[in-house]
Amino acid sequence: TKWVYGFGGGSADGDASMKNLLGGKGANLAEMSSLGLPVPPGFTVTTEACVHYYSNGQTYPEALADQVAAGLKTVEGIVGKTFGDAANPLLVSVRSGARASMPGMMDTVLNLGLNDQTVEGLATLSGDRRFAFDSYRRFITMYSNVVLGLSHDDFEEVLDDHKDRLGVTVDTDLSAADWEKVVADYKQVVERELGTPFPQDPHEQLWGAISAVFASWMNDRAKFYRRMHDIPESWGTAVNVQSMVFGNMGQTSATGVAFTRNPSTGEARLYGEFLINAQGEDVVAGIRTPQSLTKAGREEMGETAPSMEEAMPEVFGQFVEVVGRLETHYRDMQDIEFTVEQGRLWMLQTRNGKRTAKSALKIAVDLAAEGVISQDEAIGRVEPSALDQLLHPTLDPNAARTVVATGLPASPGAATGKIVFDADEAERLSQLGDAVILVREETSPEDIHGMHAARGIVTARGGMTSHAAVVARGMGRPCVSGAGEVHIDDKAGTFTARGRTFRAGEVITIDGSKGEVLDGAVPMIEPELTGDFQTLMAWADAARRLMVRANAETPLDAKTARGFGAEGIGLCRTEHMFFDEARIAAVREMILADDEKGRRTALAKIAPFQKADFVELFTIMAGLPVTIRLLDPPLHEFIPHTDEDIDALAAASGLDADKLKRRARELHETNPMLGHRGCRLGVAYPEIYEMQVRAILEAALEVKKTAAEAPIPEIMHPLVALGLEMKYLRELTDRTAEAVFADAGDRVDYLVGTMIELPRAALRAGDLAEYAEFFSFGTNDLTQTTFGISRDDSGRFLQAYMDKGIFETDPFVRLDQEGVGDLIRIAAERGGKARPDIKMGICGEHGGDPASIAFCEEVGLNYVSCSPYRVPIARLAAAQAAL
Ligand code: PEP
Ligand code: MG
Repeated sequence: TKWVYGFGGGSADGDASMKNLLGGKGANLAEMSSLGLPVPPGFTVTTEACVHYYSNGQTYPEALADQVAAGLKTVEGIVGKTFGDAANPLLVSVRSGARASMPGMMDTVLNLGLNDQTVEGLATLSGDRRFAFDSYRRFITMYSNVVLGLSHDDFEEVLDDHKDRLGVTVDTDLSAADWEKVVADYKQVVERELGTPFPQDPHEQLWGAISAVFASWMNDRAKFYRRMHDIPESWGTAVNVQSMVFGNMGQTSATGVAFTRNPSTGEARLYGEFLINAQGEDVVAGIRTPQSLTKAGREEMGETAPSMEEAMPEVFGQFVEVVGRLETHYRDMQDIEFTVEQGRLWMLQTRNGKRTAKSALKIAVDLAAEGVISQDEAIGRVEPSALDQLLHPTLDPNAARTVVATGLPASPGAATGKIVFDADEAERLSQLGDAVILVREETSPEDIHGMHAARGIVTARGGMTSHAAVVARGMGRPCVSGAGEVHIDDKAGTFTARGRTFRAGEVITIDGSKGEVLDGAVPMIEPELTGDFQTLMAWADAARRLMVRANAETPLDAKTARGFGAEGIGLCRTEHMFFDEARIAAVREMILADDEKGRRTALAKIAPFQKADFVELFTIMAGLPVTIRLLDPPLHEFIPHTDEDIDALAAASGLDADKLKRRARELHETNPMLGHRGCRLGVAYPEIYEMQVRAILEAALEVKKTAAEAPIPEIMHPLVALGLEMKYLRELTDRTAEAVFADAGDRVDYLVGTMIELPRAALRAGDLAEYAEFFSFGTNDLTQTTFGISRDDSGRFLQAYMDKGIFETDPFVRLDQEGVGDLIRIAAERGGKARPDIKMGICGEHGGDPASIAFCEEVGLNYVSCSPYRVPIARLAAAQAAL
């Protein structure tokens, strides 16, 4: 096996396509070498060596030592120096480089190869003794920290002592002789702490550094970063060993970073910073303030120190030419690291630059306009989920933040407001003009009004598909869910987190994109849907096959969704319409009724409200399909549960408290998610569904009279499992429809269909399709029922599964394509066989997740439906899936 790939001197063993093997950095160093760009020669130890290292008890493949030695020989040949040679030493850097960039997460060692002899050689070669010993002390610090596990502080202390003794404050005031003394003391620190001297053998140093880089793949930072960015642990990192070039060899030397376009705004202009007479770490460490690369940049920043363009015009000219070539070659904005050593330019790294969503849009559209990439490629250049950044106000990235608790990033965007613990209070205060953040243990449908009134929501419990999370995303309210650090004391009207107590009325800010709760008011930036956004979305719309609908029931959500380009409503959850103050009374009356007659009397009171709701929805969605799901949750969700709450309700509403309590007991279920809910309500109390069907169709008839295009109602039955259930529901629906049409003397077209939310429904989809004209995959429940994992309780243990690598992602967020996906495939196939023109979509939360959308494309669904604020994301993801 080839474990080591060389680069430099105008050629390379690898190229940019070999990121999996060589890591991003290694692959691009190879590519730049082959392009003939000035790259300090070196070699890459492959990610496979790292994988081997970890799967073989942290040992190296046998052939590695010889291959590294050969790689080193080649480098020596190109630069004309020898590793460990006292007179003419080759020095190297040793850096990590995974497939995906993990900035700052892993370790680096610079100036490796220095020891008591070679430092003299470096002094002679450079003609600068001070530089040589400065480099040596940097190396000792870095190596001791990264490889030997010593603390930086041990060395800082020594340096501070020297500075005190010399009466100086900055490093640059130390002379060559001073640095020699510091180096001697540093070596003593190592010997004191470890009982062995600082390693003098450069080969021992090299292997120490390689091992340390491999080990850093498993450090806590790297693990955390991988988890955040979905990077598999199995990838491993490569190690790049590269001959050193020095940006700290005087006034004609420098080091810097550059972007070929502005990474925040996308503006097509070279952007970056550099430092004269410095090494890379100085830029990162922020000890000195770097200067702008260009004159224009300097003027914009109001800097006085000369830009690179002004300070070293010749090298700058060469640099501009090189970065231009790189952008053209890679056909994307590049993020570049470089060093100038005594007037000579060296390229240390190039990669596709990370960018904000705004910048990504502009760059993609600009590159397409410049003819560098095609429109289809431009569509692929923007991460769909990044669009979220553009649709919500966000926190000013430059603002200071004090985190008081963290939870899940349940619904993106940022909000500031006064703490409230109660939904009614949230509504009351917001009506008075206050911005409030609703903080709850968890939320239930009864809190909807409060959630709507609040600017943002925090819950102490619950996962990414908890009620709070789903509803907040639907409303476009930022939400942090499952913030376990938040301990609410309802009685006291406070919560405590990290030892601090916050009272109702105190101001907090939440960052729903990061899952953070912050102290006080943090400044915000408003969203701005630029021309680039519109342009790219138009391209995406032309490229996609899947239709995109929204899950919405309020007029506001429906309008928002249509504004974002939704092509109909894929899920209107009618129960959310029942909590309005005026109707909840009639709903409770229906629940308390002793018989069908009593229920019908109560339902007659709800009917006009329902009809009015649907008139509004059909009007907003004129000409587009609107899928309305009949009542789904168990009835006890509409009445309070504790005696205390029941007494309060009875007092306020005049209902009989004893009767309420008896009914609450009767309706109590051990496992309500699998209880008397969904179409089981319609089968037991057909009058409820009859009322809803009637309201839907009467509304459709009314809107039809005035609208240019007739509404297209799709009546959907939840939680169906059996063909005979569906038959019963279909007949109920059609019978009611005929009655409505007879009364009105007019008709509208409508469809009757079902959700697929149970494994049996998926398996027997052929039976259902006999009566159902469409399927909508309710993947929230389907995931819950396939795994047998309660969606409301999964938050408590899912993290343990993810930490142990059993689940790579939360199956309630990203569709489990193997298990749940198999059921969807089966249902699509069997349903399609029974009814070839059956319409199929998805309305679970997965309908807004790009990876899950790709799956929907693959299975050939007709549409995806998601919360309004996810509609643009789904449009782009659907286009990417189609290309
Ligand atoms: C589902 O189960 O996927 C669904 C959309 O319905 P709900 O979330 O309302 O149960
Ligand atoms: Mg459901």
